[in-house]
Amino acid sequence: MLVRAVALRDYRNIGEADVRFTEGVNLLVGDNAQGKTNLLEGIYLFALGKSFRGAKEAELVRFGADIASLRLNFAAGGREQSATLRFAKGKRAVELNRVKLDRMSELIGAFRAVLFCPEHLSLIKEGPAVRRAYLDIAISQLRPVYLRALQRYNAVLRERNKLLKTADEQPRVFRDTIELWSAQLAEQAAVIAPARREYVEAVQAAAADIFADMTGSRESPTFTYAPGFHLEPDRCADPGAVREQMMRLLTSHLDREKAAGATLWGVHKDDVQISLNGRSARLYGSQGQQRSLALAMKLAEGEICAAQTGERPVFLFDDVLSELDAARRAYLTREFAGRQVIMTTCERAVFPDEANVIGVREGSYMQ
Ligand code: ATP
Ligand code: MG
Repeated sequence: MLVRAVALRDYRNIGEADVRFTEGVNLLVGDNAQGKTNLLEGIYLFALGKSFRGAKEAELVRFGADIASLRLNFAAGGREQSATLRFAKGKRAVELNRVKLDRMSELIGAFRAVLFCPEHLSLIKEGPAVRRAYLDIAISQLRPVYLRALQRYNAVLRERNKLLKTADEQPRVFRDTIELWSAQLAEQAAVIAPARREYVEAVQAAAADIFADMTGSRESPTFTYAPGFHLEPDRCADPGAVREQMMRLLTSHLDREKAAGATLWGVHKDDVQISLNGRSARLYGSQGQQRSLALAMKLAEGEICAAQTGERPVFLFDDVLSELDAARRAYLTREFAGRQVIMTTCERAVFPDEANVIGVREGSYMQ
């Protein structure tokens, strides 16, 4: 996977830019608020189908302009490809290799990238939502079926929660429909949980070695899928067992769920337990260990993607190297060999000499 070029018009603070990238390390260097992250966000839009900063599409359009457009030229699957996005007020157009797509999410999986930004450094110490997001983003790029199940699960969960909240006002509606929603939730969970469990196993295999190499430490990390519906992680490999367990929980505690006004069990409560020598890394790991583990998880995401697709994804690093100590930086610099990396920084000095340097100023890119 290689990004060849990105062309942007009226996107964020960029009026018009055509930026070309080389294999290896590409460095976007510039002062604060010049458009470094904007460019990475633009590239990652094609992998994620939305802004990684959680921005609404309207916010991506340059102030005062009507339409933002982006074109990505990339090499994947042994051929040159292109994708375009256009956002106007309330409307959007998506194309892949000149074929119109109906939804942004249909784009996911064509261009694959791994993003690493400062927020990811707290992957270990934050609550479970960030770890679920890590799994979802990684697995969705590999399996369209997973993404569809996740979208349905979230939609069904919203409906089911609404029903639980209004159960007292509308007891008949509740009685007539709750089981239907529960069954649909269980159905999608039976796709999501096995995929997450399998992915966490792959993370275990890849990240443990990366962590050991990076830190030279003898402490070994373990990553375990922790389902949010009281089932042994190993049994989560079986969709039938997941469905059955979900149905059991979602039918036998309705009073508790009504009182809470929310669905109490399901993959929306999943987590990944991460430990070092058997102790929770979240509770006992040092800040440095937690950062190394987070970095190892992100690099593992790249390795798993390469192993499953036969192609290395593009690495996008937003401002992270300056947050890392010299040893981890040196490790990363070695790891970058043979990969395409696009990264941003305010200080040129901290990076490898052989990088392709692109200066960034007020939404212009000098190369
Ligand atoms: P830092 O080093 O601080 O992270 P950066 O170079 O990564 O800086 P960006 O986040 O890429 O900075 O760009 C921020 C600039 O883009 C801000 O000045 C912001 O006001 C501007 N900006 C964001 N959205 C829009 C928009 N829709 N239209 C015009 N300008 C925008
Ligand atoms: Mg930035």
